[in-house]
This record gives sequence, structure tokens and C-alpha cells, in this order.
Amino acid sequence: MAIKLLDPKVVSRIAAGEVVERPASVVKELVENSLDAGSSQISIEVRGGGVGLIRVTDNGVGIPSGEVELAFDRYATSKIGSLEDLESINSLGFRGEALPSIAAVAQVDIVTCAVGESVGSYLSLKDGITENKGSQGRSQGTTVTVRNLFRKVPARLKFLKSPATENSHIANVVSQYAIAFPEVRFALFIDGRVALRTPGNGQLIDSVIQVYGLEVAQNMLEIRSRDEEWEGRAVTSLPLVTGMIGSPAISRSNRSYLSFFVNRRWISSRLLAWAVAEAYHGLLMPGKHPVAIINISLPLNEVDVNIHPTKTEVKFQNERAILGAVQKAIRRTLVELAPVPKIEEVATTYVSPAGRGQVLWTPAESGSRPVYSPPVAEQTPAVSLPVLRVLGQLSSSYIIAEGPDGLYLIDQHAAHERILFEKIKQQRSRQEIEVQGLLEPVAFEVNPKQDEALKAYHEKLAEFGFSIEPFGDRTYLVRAVPVLLHQKDWAGVLRELLDSLSGGDKGDWIEKIAISIACHSAVRAGQELTDDEMRELIQQLEQVAVPHTCPHGRPIMIRLSSEQLKRGFGRS
Ligand code: ADP
Ligand code: MG
Repeated sequence: MAIKLLDPKVVSRIAAGEVVERPASVVKELVENSLDAGSSQISIEVRGGGVGLIRVTDNGVGIPSGEVELAFDRYATSKIGSLEDLESINSLGFRGEALPSIAAVAQVDIVTCAVGESVGSYLSLKDGITENKGSQGRSQGTTVTVRNLFRKVPARLKFLKSPATENSHIANVVSQYAIAFPEVRFALFIDGRVALRTPGNGQLIDSVIQVYGLEVAQNMLEIRSRDEEWEGRAVTSLPLVTGMIGSPAISRSNRSYLSFFVNRRWISSRLLAWAVAEAYHGLLMPGKHPVAIINISLPLNEVDVNIHPTKTEVKFQNERAILGAVQKAIRRTLVELAPVPKIEEVATTYVSPAGRGQVLWTPAESGSRPVYSPPVAEQTPAVSLPVLRVLGQLSSSYIIAEGPDGLYLIDQHAAHERILFEKIKQQRSRQEIEVQGLLEPVAFEVNPKQDEALKAYHEKLAEFGFSIEPFGDRTYLVRAVPVLLHQKDWAGVLRELLDSLSGGDKGDWIEKIAISIACHSAVRAGQELTDDEMRELIQQLEQVAVPHTCPHGRPIMIRLSSEQLKRGFGRS
């Protein structure tokens, strides 16, 4: 094909794709505009996972009637004016791309009334072209309504997840901004229900209560700003790290409770996530992540936000200083406010043989590799187990057993996990899950994201023995739980499950739930077992169809074959 310039319509559709990836991106852009307009109240209404309708209403400065149409032109912005301004951006928006991008992929109506104007104006656009405009009464502020998102972009529509998942992304965006701007009153309505409401009183803790619930909020520690204790003098040097972090008691199984804001812009950063993890080193169990809200303030010209159209990545001029400041602030807060005993990783990890016949059971020093690899350990064949004779327990974590074909070293937790996983799946398919009613129903509070997941998976969780019913605003009553979890931390399991079910990929929910229950009810590494218990476990393992890996895919056992035992190690 000959080279030619693309039609402006095509150009704008391509550009829109970079800004508007999914309904949550529209919400993000509109909320950012409302915040830039100095609003103290922002309400967000969503229907049909955001594809049907997104409406954001604010009480900010509004758009002067003569400029409303211009706002929908590409690169039209009131926020920067010159090249120098790009060096020190103090607004969330600056690219002038959001409104035209949204209008390129949806039907948009705007009603706005600017400060000092007595009557507002409205504008309707279809395919980015003005359909209707005029004046209309409204109080100061702006309402943008977006309908039929991606109707004309079937490729995008196809990649969207279920409405529940899109809703949870939206709830997450609003939650993040609610945390970043505690002085703004946020209200989020999803399909007519209140999903989130913050008081807007300027107190971070009150936003945290609304977003993460009371249990998390009660365990949050305020980050002491860096210089205030220096000889009683208040010296503010930048970067300044503020915010709140969770005590190690409320760790989570994924990173979705980590929020970073740079000069109040919500950003994602692997480096910062790593810095936080380092600061918690030794305080959390392996695989656990902290809850943290980290606000970084620094001179505008020391951070570049113009990296990507979505503005969620930034580049720091002095990255090391920032990472160091974040780590120090967290570490000091933890040491001063939460004197928690250091959890020895050695005692809590079960070191699962990593397969491939390479690694053996040497208990890991924190972070180090196992030191002893036998030259001859080989992977067990993928057939069912022979009858095994239990010889004893090693490090309270492994069962040593002898079979006709050699010596087996079996990871007790992984083995039990596999047994329970199979059992749970089988019981569920036969509707025979054993359920334990609670003496009194227990109130269970969830955050907006978990709320969406719970609504979507409510019945599925019931199939596994969780009897949960709605009880007011983001609170539920739990009446029964799976027997296996009765004496365990079932609330923690449920929370973790909701977090993983609300993640982007829906995956196999049956597997997810079964794995989670199995993992939490299985015997732990470090737990001493009687001979009878070990025999019982091995017998059950012999019945299992896939006795070689736990449901997460980690190997359960390694074997030294009879020949190897005869030959000895390394002898030729
Ligand atoms: P940007 O935010 O990068 O400037 P947008 O396309 O998001 O670009 O918005 C274009 C312009 O429209 C903004 O610069 C601002 O002047 C105006 N605008 C958009 N939304 C609002 C709002 N809610 N309140 C006041 N002005 C707004
Ligand atoms: Mg904008």
C-alpha cells in the first residue's frame, strides 16, 4: 500500500486507545479533571460495568461557556501553556487528551457552569462530533456523562471482562483517589448501590476506614514525616514521605493494598513496591504483602510525569534518594510504633523441594539457597504411589518413608494440601461439602473491590460452605463456614479469596477457592505429627490421583531410588 496520512478520525481512534483502555480509565480521567478543577465533592455513577453509563459530577470551577467545545479538541488544555510548564506540572491532567479520547469512543454529554457565570452550558457529542449545544441551568461545577463506551470499537469491547470485574477496577480507581484526597467527598454508585462514600473531612484515616474497612484502619500506623523530630525543629526537606502503613499484623496475600502517590498523583511503580517490601523485610511471612499508603512530595521539576498517556508512570530525577527516603520512613514508623518480634523465616517457611531433582530439604537461611544438593535425587515418576512405610519426621516438616523403590522425603504441608484439595473438589461436585454453622453470625466488613467480588461470587462461595448474607453497607453476616476452616482464620481466607477473585483474570474459580481452603486448613510445616497421623496422611496420599505436586504446582516429594541407595553418593 502507498504511504499516506491517516484520516483524522482514524488518528483520534488510535490515540484514544492509549488513554481509554477500559471503563475504569474513563473514570480515572474524569475524576482527575474534577480534582484539577478544585472540587470538594465528586460523585461517580456507573451502570453496566461502565459500558452502559459513567457519570461524574463535581462542584469545581467549571468550564467557561465559550470554551466547552474547545475542551473536546485534541491537545486543548487550560493546565499548561508552554514548554517550560512541562517541567513542573502541578495538575493531574496536562495533555489535553482525555475528553477528545473519550468522545472518540463513546457518546458524551457535558453540562457545566463556570465560576462567575449565571447560567451553564451543555454539549452533546457523538463520534467526537458536536450534535447539540446550548445553555442550561446548573450550579457551579461540571457533569460529564459517558454512554455506550466502545460500542463502535468491537475489538475493545471484546477484551473487557465481566461487569463485576470492570466494576471492581472502577471501585479501585475511585478508592485510590479517595485515599489521595481525603479532603474531597467522594461518592461512588454502582448500578444504583452506594459502593463507596468518604466524608471529605481531610482525615486520611477516615478515608481508609471507608475504603479498607475498620479492621485494616485500626491497624494502620501514621508515617512520621521525616524531619519533624530533628532537635525539635520542624525542617521540611524534600522528598517528604507521608501516609500510613499497616502493622505487620494485617499483611495481605497480594500487592493490591499498596498505593503510591507522587505529588498526589496515583502512580504504579515496581521499584517503590520493592522498596516497601524491603522495609518490611523479616516482619512478614514469605508471600505476604503489607498494606501501605505512601505519599511522596517532591519539587515538581524533580519528577517527570510525561512518560505515558495514562500518566500512571513517573520518572524520578534522583530515584535512589526517593527509594531510600521511602524505606527509611517506613522502617522508622515500624520500629517506633509497632515493636513486633521478628518472624524468623526459617521457622515459618516450608522449604518445598523445588523439583528437577536439584534441591533438597536443607532449611533455608533467610534468603539463601539450600546448600546441599544430592547428586542423585531424581524426580518421582508420574504414577500413583506405592505402599509406603513411615520411618519418621524430619524438621517437623517432612515425612521420611520407605517404599519398594527407595526412600521418600515428603513435604507434609504440600501433601496434605493436595489431599484436601482433591477432597474439597469432590465434595463440592457431589454437593457434600461439610459445613459448620457459627454459634452467632459474625459481621464481615469488606472494601468496595471485595464487595463487588462478593456480590459476583456469593453463590459460588456458598457451594463451598460459606453462608454469607448482606447486612447493610458493605457489611455481611457470615453464618456458616466450611468445616475445614472452622477453627482457622476463615475471615482471612475469605478476604484473600475475594481479593484474588476480584483480580483481572477470572481464572478457574473452583480451583481458586479449593486451593485457598486446602492451603489454609492443611497441616503446617513445623507441626509435629504422631506416627499415626503420619501414617494416615501417607495412606490418604496413596489414594490421590496426582500425588506428586501440591495444587500450586510445587513438588510434594523427592525420592532416592533403591539403586542410588545401593550405589551410594558420588561413588563410581
Ligand atoms: P487535560 O485534563 O489534560 O487538560 P482534558 O481533555 O481532560 O485535558 O480536559 C480538557 C480541559 O477541559 C481541561 O484542561 C479543563 O480546562 C477542562 N475540563 C475538563 N473537565 C473539567 C471539569 N470537570 N471541570 C472544569 N474543567 C474541566
Ligand atoms: Mg484531564
